[in-house]
Amino acid sequence: MSEQPTILAPDRTSFAPPTELAAQANATADSYADATANRLGYWADQAGRITWAEPFTEVLDWSNPPFAKWYVGGRLNAAYNCVDRHVEAGNGDRVALHFIGEPGDTRDITYAQLKDEVSRAANALTDLGIRAGDRVAIYLPMIPEAVVAMLACARLGAPHTVVFGGFSADALASRIVDCDARIVITADGGYRRGATSALKPAVDDALSKLGGDSPVDHVVVVRRTGQHVPFDDATDVWWHDVVDGSSPDHTPEAFDSEHPLYVMYTSGTTGTPKGILHTTGGYLVQTTSTFWSVFDHKPDDVYWCTADIGWVTGHSYVVYGPLANGASQVLYEGTPDAPHRGRWWEIIQDKGVTILYTAPTAIRTFMKWGEQIPAEYDLSTLRILGSVGESINPEAYHWYREHVGGSNAPIVDTWWQTETGGHMISPLPGVTEGKPGSAMTPLPGIVADVVDDAGQSVANGDSGYLVIREPWPAMLRTIWGDDERYRDTYWSRWEGMYFAGDGARRDEDGAIWLLGRVDDVMNVSGHRLSTTEIESALVSHPKVAEAAVVGAADNTTGQAVVAFVILRESAADDGTDVVADLRAHVAREIGPIAKPRQITVVPELPKTRSGKIMRRLLRDVAENREIGDASTLADASVMESLRGGDSRHANYCGTPRM
Ligand code: ATP
Ligand code: MG
Repeated sequence: MSEQPTILAPDRTSFAPPTELAAQANATADSYADATANRLGYWADQAGRITWAEPFTEVLDWSNPPFAKWYVGGRLNAAYNCVDRHVEAGNGDRVALHFIGEPGDTRDITYAQLKDEVSRAANALTDLGIRAGDRVAIYLPMIPEAVVAMLACARLGAPHTVVFGGFSADALASRIVDCDARIVITADGGYRRGATSALKPAVDDALSKLGGDSPVDHVVVVRRTGQHVPFDDATDVWWHDVVDGSSPDHTPEAFDSEHPLYVMYTSGTTGTPKGILHTTGGYLVQTTSTFWSVFDHKPDDVYWCTADIGWVTGHSYVVYGPLANGASQVLYEGTPDAPHRGRWWEIIQDKGVTILYTAPTAIRTFMKWGEQIPAEYDLSTLRILGSVGESINPEAYHWYREHVGGSNAPIVDTWWQTETGGHMISPLPGVTEGKPGSAMTPLPGIVADVVDDAGQSVANGDSGYLVIREPWPAMLRTIWGDDERYRDTYWSRWEGMYFAGDGARRDEDGAIWLLGRVDDVMNVSGHRLSTTEIESALVSHPKVAEAAVVGAADNTTGQAVVAFVILRESAADDGTDVVADLRAHVAREIGPIAKPRQITVVPELPKTRSGKIMRRLLRDVAENREIGDASTLADASVMESLRGGDSRHANYCGTPRM
């Protein structure tokens, strides 16, 4: 079909699930069969993984699409499910959080302690006037109080909106206003890359920008670094003053299954971030169920998800999914290179981590640093590796499997979105084989498809648009305050189908390969080219650690392929013309049509807080335009270095034509 990428670079390797793991896996082939036979029956069964104060009477009400109601009539408390019920079951002494601060301070928090702390925080928030339905903004580093604050809100039925601690005052202000938040929970600061970075001043800044329009009554400040912060006694209170003295007894109220749980803003990779609303019952069922099945979680596992709490992965797979399963997990505050580049591997060795969940961007960074670093540590406890955020390039997949997973641990490449709330397409590690670069097949109970322009399923071997054909429990319920935009953005392209914005190919065996955003697909002389595949080809060159590809307007070809690459540190300057080598390499791997017009070697790429490359900003650079909305960029100085580096740009640029 004309709209879709025509050039493919298949990796034909595939890994079967390890026999031992398969023999004891939580989810078996029966899960697929059960869900296929009776999808709603499957989701009714999965609802048994959580505790309901009152049972639901109907699994799904889809009488007013695209507005879904899951587990109709059921009542529950999300925080009770994540904390209290484990204590009641006799597991109060189990460690919930192995917190590791960047400076090296550690705190193990048991489920019993977490219950007390969440209850105290819920009592404190109540004293500050928070009632069910009020919104609370959370702007914290990766410290236990972030988890406690989220659960305290959930306990009160007060939807939280977590804003990444790396965001600016402007980004915080716009979210506070959009959600109409009455309280902001923040810290004096946090530790990053060996230094303290202040947070509270950004809150002050945001609130003073809002002036009389600020909906915020109080700012609750956690003392993390001890640095001096401005304090306004009229609005500001210390967390330890209001929480520590509160009672550890708090009776959780049961809320309707559709009671709002939180609003989370998308990464903003394709445009202005959207406030995605998740509700309680369906969201908790799907995150709890997928944590159990996709990570094959067992009670003695030590789990570590490296995502920040300010990203949906931090919500679904640091807070709600793992804690509802009673998991023990690592919570690490800092960066992978503080104080040294082996920090992650040291943590895995020290804590005996068995399940690791991270992003391809991190893996490529480790590839850039070299495999000798993880090789210094004992990583043999790892039994499952997860990947999220973007397609994992085959090269990175092989590296992850070999140098982190001991060539044995299966990789679960999990495709999902802020909007989907939980995993949607992923291998089940004891059942599904793994093909490097493919998210494989929809999980049980999920009906995903690849369709053409007319909304018809494509044949195996063809590409098209990734859609979801049936509602799923953790689906977004709307865009906060904007039902119309919800309908337009996700449900208007084809009748009755949720369109996610991603392009995909279904291979000869029916496995799904994500090809990047359809907006990013390039049209070069009439050929549709996928960014993901050209990037993978570049990363498969031994000198390249990371690559980002965009299409730039071109008088001759319509669009031209423009690439930005980061070289591996081992890529010695051996006098060869690396740009010419790379262009030839892409031509060899994919075809001459995919050869980049221009390749720029850069020290960093513009990424969101969740590590996604912001291609639309690179497109602005490639087309010499004003840079668009960069508010969700993790590090704003990267754009300056790309923009400012004109002379370096010229030095490193390849010949501008094929
Ligand atoms: P915005 O919607 O504001 O542009 P975003 O789409 O980057 O931002 P997220 O919800 O954080 O916001 O990211 C979801 C997207 O990430 C998916 O639509 C997909 O493009 C990509 N993605 C996530 N996991 C995978 C994966 N395993 N393989 C391929 N792509 C993935
Ligand atoms: Mg998106």
